Amino acid sequence: MLPWYDPCTMKLRHILLLALAVPVFAQDAKLAKDVESVYPDMHALYLDLHQSPELSFHETQTAAKLATRLRSLGFDVTEHVGETGIVAIMKNGAGPTVMLRTELDALPVEEKTGLSYASKVRTKDNSGREVSAMHACGHDIHMASFIGTATIMAHSKDTWHGTLMLVGQPAEETISGAKKMIDEGFITRFPKPDVAIALHVGNWLPAGKVGTGSGYQSSNADSLRITIYGKGGHGSMPFTTIDPIVIAARTVLSLQTIVSREVKPGEIAVVTVGYIQAGTKNNIIPDQAELGLTVRTYKPEIRKQILAAIERMCKAEAEAAGAPRAPQIERFEFTDSTYNEPGLDQRLGPVLEAALGKARVEVGEPILASEDFSYFTAQGIPSYYFWLGGADPQKYAEAKAGGPALPSNHSPLFAPVVDPSLHTGIAAEVAVLRNLLNASAQDLHKLANSHGSN
Ligand SMILES: [Zn+2]
Ligand SMILES: [Zn+2]
Repeated sequence: MLPWYDPCTMKLRHILLLALAVPVFAQDAKLAKDVESVYPDMHALYLDLHQSPELSFHETQTAAKLATRLRSLGFDVTEHVGETGIVAIMKNGAGPTVMLRTELDALPVEEKTGLSYASKVRTKDNSGREVSAMHACGHDIHMASFIGTATIMAHSKDTWHGTLMLVGQPAEETISGAKKMIDEGFITRFPKPDVAIALHVGNWLPAGKVGTGSGYQSSNADSLRITIYGKGGHGSMPFTTIDPIVIAARTVLSLQTIVSREVKPGEIAVVTVGYIQAGTKNNIIPDQAELGLTVRTYKPEIRKQILAAIERMCKAEAEAAGAPRAPQIERFEFTDSTYNEPGLDQRLGPVLEAALGKARVEVGEPILASEDFSYFTAQGIPSYYFWLGGADPQKYAEAKAGGPALPSNHSPLFAPVVDPSLHTGIAAEVAVLRNLLNASAQDLHKLANSHGSN
C-alpha cells in the first residue's frame, strides 16, 4: 500500500492539508500556489486537447493552439520546424539553455474509456483509410503540463535566468518527428540546449507520483522487415517448389533462440515476430514470405549482437532450404534508448523530492517501450527523462495486490487520472527547470560529462 494513499491516514492527512492550505500535489508551498494559479485553465486545455487528437505529422491544430498560447506569454515562437513541430524561446539574461519537450501526436485508436470527454474523432491516416484517433499515450497530459509550466515560468522570471526553450515535437509515435526537426535545422537555427528534459505519463506509477533514475530509461528499438524468397508452385507438388512458408516458420523458431541461448542471462533483450505474411490460397505455395520484427535492447553491444544474429539465422535458414536468393532484411524504423546522465539524476532527484515530497518520488524501473527523445541526445544534448504517474491510486493498489491489470499506454482504455497527474506534471517540470536555470552552463556540462555511454 502506498503511504500517501493509505485509506486509514487519508482522512487525517486531508484535514492536516486543509489546515495548512497546501494542496496535495506539491510540498513546496510557493510552487503549489503557482500551479494552482494556472490549473483551471490547464485542465480546460487538457479536455480540449483530449477531444481533438491528431495523428503523427497532422498535428496542425494542436501545434497552432500551443503556438498561440506561447506567443501570448512572450515566447519567440517558430512553427513548422519538422512539418508540424514548434520551438518557443524565452531569453531571460545570462545562463544556460534548457529545453523541455512535449510530443504533439495521438494514435489511430478508438477510445473506449467511457469518459464524458472521450474522443469521438474520426480522421484519415496516411494511406487514406478512415480511422479513429485518441490520445492513448497521454501526450495531452504532457502538452497541458508543458503550457502550465510555460505560463508559470513566464510569470516568474525573477526565479530563473538563462534561456528557456520549449519544443513541441510532432510524430513521436512513428519515431520520426525528432529526426525531422533535426533534419530541418533544429541544431543550427536555434540555441543548442545545455540540457534537455522530458517526461512520460503511464499507469506503472500512481497519479501524484513521479519516477526517476539514472542510466537507461527506455529501450533501443529496431523494426525489421524480412523478405524470404522461395519458389512457388502447386500445393500438391511441393517437391517442385521451395516453400517460403516453411522457411519462415523455421526462421521464427530459430530467432527465438537468440535471447534464450546467445544473450548473456541478465541482459535486457526482446525479439518479437509481430507478423508473418505469405500466400493467398490453400493450394498454392507462394514465391515469398514476409516477417515483421521488433527488437528491444538497452546496451549498444547487445543490440549489435542481436541484429547480427538475426541476419545470420535468416540467411542460414534460407540456405538450408536451398532458397534461390538470400533474404532481404530492412531496418525500417529505429531509435536509441533514452539515457539519463547520472550526474543530472543526482542533482534533480532531490529537487523533485523537495518539490513534491519524498514519498512521491520513486526510483523508476527502465521500460522496454521506446521513443525518439534520444535523437536530441544523439546530437550531443545531455538529457533527463522521467516518469509521471497516471494510474488511479486505488486501482493501482488493487492491481499490485493481484487484481485486474491496468490498461497500458496505447490501449483504448488508457486514461490517466487528470487530477493529480496534471498538477504533478506541472509542479515537477517547473521545479526541474527552475533548478537547472539557476545553474551555470559550465555546472551543467560537468554534471553531464558521463555522456556517451549509451
Ligand atoms: Zn506512445
Ligand atoms: Zn508516448
